[in-house]
Parts: sequence; C-alpha cells; structure tokens
Amino acid sequence: MRRPTIQIRAARFAAVLVLAVAAAGLGAASSAAVAPAYHTNDRLGKIVPIGSSIPHAEGVMVDRRIVNNLLYLAQKYPIYVVEGYAGPLAGVGEVGCRRCHVKHSDHFNGLAADIVPLYWDGFGCDRSWKPVTRLARWAEPRQNRPRLPFRWVGYNRDYNHGCGNHLHLSWDHAPAKRFELADWVTVFDVPVKPVKPVEPVEPPPPPPPEPVPPPLPPEGREVAAP
Ligand SMILES: [Zn+2]
Repeated sequence: MRRPTIQIRAARFAAVLVLAVAAAGLGAASSAAVAPAYHTNDRLGKIVPIGSSIPHAEGVMVDRRIVNNLLYLAQKYPIYVVEGYAGPLAGVGEVGCRRCHVKHSDHFNGLAADIVPLYWDGFGCDRSWKPVTRLARWAEPRQNRPRLPFRWVGYNRDYNHGCGNHLHLSWDHAPAKRFELADWVTVFDVPVKPVKPVEPVEPPPPPPPEPVPPPLPPEGREVAAP
C-alpha cells in the first residue's frame, strides 16, 4: 500500500521543526558568548600583584591595566591564574617563570595570563575544565582567530596548551621590548552590573472631600416644635 504523501511531508516538517528549535536553543546558549566590547587603555602601566580577589598562585603579577578584566573573568568563571608577568622587576627581583615562555611572549610585558580551573586536582582534562573551555571559546571562537581585545589565545590545538594543561590569554598591546611596559593595551569593557530601576513615585491620593455642613436654619426663624 502506498503511504500517503501528506504523512511523509508532515513527518519531514516535524523533523525540520525539531532541528530549528534545537538550533534556536544553541543560539540562545551561545548568546552568552557575545563578542566583547573593548577600548584602548593608554594610561601608564605598572606591574602589580594581581590582587586577592582573583584566585592565583603565589607571587603572580600583571600589568595593572588588565587587572579589572581578570577580576571580571574570575567572577564569571572559576579560574586560577598561575602565571602573569615573567621577568625581572625593580624592587621585587625575578617574577614568574622567564624560561617557560616563547621568545616574544606577552608574559614579558605583563599582558598575558595563564589560567587553570579553580577546582582542579592537577590531573588531566576533567569536568572542572568546562568553564575554562567556555572562556577560551569566548576569547577565540575559531582557531587562531582570537577576538579583540585578545591578541593570542592558547588552548586546545595549541602546543603545550589546552584542556588539562592551561589556557593562555594575551591582551592586544602596543609593540614593546621584553620586560618593558607597552604604551597602550586593548581591554574589554567590563559590563556594569544592571542598576535596579528606580520605582516610579506614585502621586499621593487626593484628600477626601471636606464634609459639607448641613444648611443652617434661616436666621431669626424659630424652628417650630412638632
Ligand atoms: Zn602563557
């Protein structure tokens, strides 16, 4: 017996609908990963301790112009920063691991951070890496095409980086020599927490109407007793 065409069409339509709904769901999921707005920060840089609000390995320092970005990332993702600036620093001595990085690494300018999950046992690519992977995809949705303000993102498919190893984030910056501060650095705009809208003030209710006194009897007229 021939199967009615209309049923096949209906089944196809349903399948397409399911796919469309799934795609819409994916779109909603990735809408959290919208491209960051960014700006150039050309204020004077300085290598500073990363700060206690950002979970980090002992002694990590970065250029202060990326601290706010790292603070925002630490609030959004459970991350632990293991390396920032690497090199000599007046008054401090040797910071970070100079020999751990490639020749023109942004670590030598304090404009890079190496990141691992905050709750990682140190062994392999486990579930704790999921938020770090999300962060990596946000910064670099396509391999070797980081989004500004990031200059280079080292993760999966990059040698010595990736899930189970570490995520490297570099911020775009003016050319600078090793162990020198860049004239400017590009940073993303840290979203401002939405301010609770002020409740509209209701006008006070109008006062109740004054009671109208009963009319006085005409003056001089006696009210006759019944
Ligand atoms: Zn690195």
